[in-house]
Amino acid sequence: MARKIVAGNWKMNKTLNEGVELVKELKNELSKVNVNDVTVVVSPPYVNLSEIVKIAEGSSIQISAQNVHQEESGAFTGEISAQMLQSLGVGYVIIGHSERREYFGENAKDIAKKVDAVIAQGLTPIYCCGEVKQERESGNQNQIVGMQIKSELYHLSPEDFRKVVIAYEPVWAIGTGLTASPDQAQDMHAFIRKFISEKYGNDIANETSILYGGSCKPSNAAEIFCKKDVDGGLIGGASLKAEDFVGIINAFN
Ligand code: PEP
Repeated sequence: MARKIVAGNWKMNKTLNEGVELVKELKNELSKVNVNDVTVVVSPPYVNLSEIVKIAEGSSIQISAQNVHQEESGAFTGEISAQMLQSLGVGYVIIGHSERREYFGENAKDIAKKVDAVIAQGLTPIYCCGEVKQERESGNQNQIVGMQIKSELYHLSPEDFRKVVIAYEPVWAIGTGLTASPDQAQDMHAFIRKFISEKYGNDIANETSILYGGSCKPSNAAEIFCKKDVDGGLIGGASLKAEDFVGIINAFN
């Protein structure tokens, strides 16, 4: 069975003090509820990772970076390697978020290499895929997502593919307040699982966590998370307030 995961993507939000406060609040709130079978992940900006890893120590909260550079080291001014993240105690890295694809020109080749770099350091990639509005409107969403997964993940050996978490994020639903309906999410997640099973077999497909992302909030998380092939969420805006994020985590109960 796939692991249940709720991961927060803070994007370019929260100063060091604000981030520390948020993780302290989360620790406190999570200590009051039973979420043992849900992996909780937060993704602060790079500069605050080191401090937030320390604050989260002793809790069940896992720490993710929002990006990584694909090379191990060298003359890449301003970039951060997977080895650096690993040395801080970071366990996860979001890769291929639609904002990175759109604003920073990340392409399939970069993304495939980033996945490799992260796995090589023993970290877990949270790999994002999803269609834009026009592709959904023309009914091409499965083809697009299938193509992304094929070109960015299917070079992996079965052993390495097992280490990947997939986040299906319809781009038209990210930060827009528009959410995929529970049935739209289920249809796509079922498609992704079947697509994976055709390449890697049923066991790996069933073990792969497939998260939904796109304007998920406490009020709609339960109806999405109860769908058979939805194993959790990648949460943007609603991960910035402890109460909302915990509300989403609790949607599994
Ligand atoms: C995201 O950026 O991954 C995301 C899902 O954002 P939001 O929840 O704000 O739509």
